[in-house]
Amino acid sequence: MEILLSDKAYENDVRPIINAFCPEEETRISTISIDFGRDKVYIDIKVNSGESYNSFTSTPDPINEKAAYKNAMKRLLYSMLSDISKKELPWGILTGIRPTKLVYELLEKGMDEEEIYRRMEEEYYCSKDRIAISILIANREMQLLNEMDYKNGYSLYIAIPFCPSTCLYCSFPSYSVERYADTVEGYLKALENEIRYASTCLPDKKLSTVYLGGGTPTTLSAKQLDRLLGLIRQLYDFTYVKEFCVEAGRPDSITKDKLMVLKKWGVDRISINPQTMQERTLELIGRKHTISQVYEAFHMARETGHDNINMDIIIGLMGERPEDVAYTLDMIKELDPEGLTVHTLAIKRAARLNAEKDNYKGLKAEKVPRMLELSKEFAKANGYLPYYLYRQKNMADNLENIGYAKYGKEGLYNILIMEEKQTILALGAGALSKFVYHDRKQIDRIDNVKNPKDYINRIDEMIKRKNDYLQERRDNN
Ligand code: SF4
Repeated sequence: MEILLSDKAYENDVRPIINAFCPEEETRISTISIDFGRDKVYIDIKVNSGESYNSFTSTPDPINEKAAYKNAMKRLLYSMLSDISKKELPWGILTGIRPTKLVYELLEKGMDEEEIYRRMEEEYYCSKDRIAISILIANREMQLLNEMDYKNGYSLYIAIPFCPSTCLYCSFPSYSVERYADTVEGYLKALENEIRYASTCLPDKKLSTVYLGGGTPTTLSAKQLDRLLGLIRQLYDFTYVKEFCVEAGRPDSITKDKLMVLKKWGVDRISINPQTMQERTLELIGRKHTISQVYEAFHMARETGHDNINMDIIIGLMGERPEDVAYTLDMIKELDPEGLTVHTLAIKRAARLNAEKDNYKGLKAEKVPRMLELSKEFAKANGYLPYYLYRQKNMADNLENIGYAKYGKEGLYNILIMEEKQTILALGAGALSKFVYHDRKQIDRIDNVKNPKDYINRIDEMIKRKNDYLQERRDNN
């Protein structure tokens, strides 16, 4: 399919809509041409059978009313593609913006729910159920954030970029702990330097949440974890900390000793992620752990006193059907975790699955929207409330990821990062710090290098990056 745009600057606005309506394997459209005029946009679509469809819309001024201009153009494109394909998209023309962030901002401005509903429907063409869940979640987020002084606080993110093996769909900075075995100790030392420096960075702010992610933090040995968590507790004031979370993640990295270390240092939320409870799918996606290891890790966590456990699953995994997801959910019900995060498979450019996608052609998941429905029904029937939602590029069927939790067991860091409500000081390889300024609605980002070996070699530079930025901010204020 050929896409001809008179102004390439709009490429990122139109691509996700076109891709969602016309997946590579089934498109019957040969050409889409869009002419971006100052007060009108013209669209011409040719289908393989030779027919052609054209239409135009009047638009607001693209310079002074940029967002309204884009929305008018996207609505026209959406309507034409919807007519041709006889399909609708659950999130309408909402691309490049988090639905709950949009709703949250409108609620903050004092807009009533009816008006928000109308705006989401008429301006963004969102479906009724997606509007309803966005409003529900934004309200819950607001309630939770209002219970903490998030504007005067900050969160700490610490990355451990090692995993037992690399999952086929992974696009995070993740390195095989076996292949990088001789790097782990050096990485930890460099990280400890950054942790020490970071403890002095924001003296006027209170620490709100701490999150260890990656990668898989529990690839570290119990001794290394003990050292790392002990250092964090020694250097940071935990008086106002509302959540200390560790993404244990891979069941094959979890041991009783490690779980005890987490408990010893006050970790109050962990994640143990099966992704699926189907053994054959686990094998296919390169997770290299078994279902019995999931059970074992979960029961060990309970025995060691962990009472806030989240489990992640992915829907749309290769070869799975709704029955597989129903089975996974049944197994999870037995374990009864406090949280359940349901991701829809998104194949990102950096994932191994993207490079090897031809090998999995015949294994496309069937009826992914039904799988998502099943997870929503499961959540509702078992007392899980949705509390955060986000979307990514290239998600199967243009769906979403939803975090659920039993009341009071929500992952606060997830809300803070997704809604960009708080400064996150992010340490370690691949970590991206975000400095949030509520008064001027500004977010500055400072990243670290991704590769752990580069991180070790350039740790002084990583620290200097943050220090220079913070110094400059202080000088300007
Ligand atoms: S466990 Fe997570 S971070 Fe590690 S390889 Fe799999 S998807 Fe990537």
